[in-house]
Amino acid sequence: TNCTCMDCYTGARCQTFVGADKCSIDANGGSPYMFAEYWVRYPETEFQMKLSERLGYLPAGIRSRLEEGIRKLHKLAGNAVTDNMNIVFGDGSTPLLTLVSTILQSSTNSLPLKVWAQKPFYSGYSSLSYANLVKFVGDEENRTTAAADEKVVEYVTSPNNPDGEIRTGVLSHPLTVFDKAYSWPMYTFIDQPFNTSAHPLSLWTLSKVTGHASSRVGWALVGDKKLADAMQAMACPIGCPVESQLVAIRAIEHVLSTQGELMKWGRAKFTERWGRIGEVFRNVSCYKVRNPRAEGYDRYDQKVYKQTPPYLWMECLNLPDQKSCGDMLRSYGMKCRDGEYFGMPKSFARLSLYVASPVFNVLIQKLTNMFANTC
Ligand code: PMP
Repeated sequence: TNCTCMDCYTGARCQTFVGADKCSIDANGGSPYMFAEYWVRYPETEFQMKLSERLGYLPAGIRSRLEEGIRKLHKLAGNAVTDNMNIVFGDGSTPLLTLVSTILQSSTNSLPLKVWAQKPFYSGYSSLSYANLVKFVGDEENRTTAAADEKVVEYVTSPNNPDGEIRTGVLSHPLTVFDKAYSWPMYTFIDQPFNTSAHPLSLWTLSKVTGHASSRVGWALVGDKKLADAMQAMACPIGCPVESQLVAIRAIEHVLSTQGELMKWGRAKFTERWGRIGEVFRNVSCYKVRNPRAEGYDRYDQKVYKQTPPYLWMECLNLPDQKSCGDMLRSYGMKCRDGEYFGMPKSFARLSLYVASPVFNVLIQKLTNMFANTC
């Protein structure tokens, strides 16, 4: 019952497989449960919190230690230059996305400020429309309309969610926010560090690098000191939660002291998963993988690496009338996110590959089963 393997397994330790056709799996959200397999191998990373030490508003040394860890982590991954960049912390990158848009709108005099992203866009952006201050128009405005409006803020998600595409931005407006959640070696090649002086506003999250999504730690690399201070004042006016920072410090210092073992592990895991997806979809004509999966030279491994995105972005080609790809997957016991959430037709759907290994095995069996029965 409290196992991450859900209803596909029973028994005190989830040891009994009930059969892929007798259970459903949840591959809808982006919770990175897969990382549990890594962290349980390092029991020394566990720690206790003492209530007697949780009392001051701004405990000495915590923030600076986290900042130092993050700069070193970017250096180890080779994914961003942090010299001369200010770091702003928030409880995840989601609130940072919202508040940076709110601050950017204060310099325009027409509300709401419009935010736009190329399709398929991260489903979470649609919920940024709030209080008539900021409105996500990615699903209503096409590229030409958005480009004509100088005040539109563009979110450039690179690599992109749901498909992993590497993006550079299309509107070429000065107001561009880079969402770099997936710019880590587990998901993509790193050919060069992200150019923070050319793009002085980028967002990052602990959720997708160490997997600690529930600790809610996100950060922005911001070139402009005034903007950074304004963002920080809005994000955590009297300091960010210290427990969350301690989790981040623990996890990041572990990654640093093991020279990026977690990233190597994540790469191997996703490479294996993509290999199996390739086999399942081979010679299947009615279902197609739509992740572009670019290849590029990877400075981290010093060889060419083919992208291994954390989501399978697929299309169902021969759907019966009125049915969506999501309906199809759900009818075979796979919870997924429908294409429409990403601004795409209902023939598209996203499946999370962040699921724990037993769940991934069932996912593969269910896809095999669905292809055999419907295609
Ligand atoms: N941006 C993108 C592209 C994401 O996929 C996610 C998480 N699914 C986020 C931001 C939010 O991350 P956080 O946990 O830091 O709020």
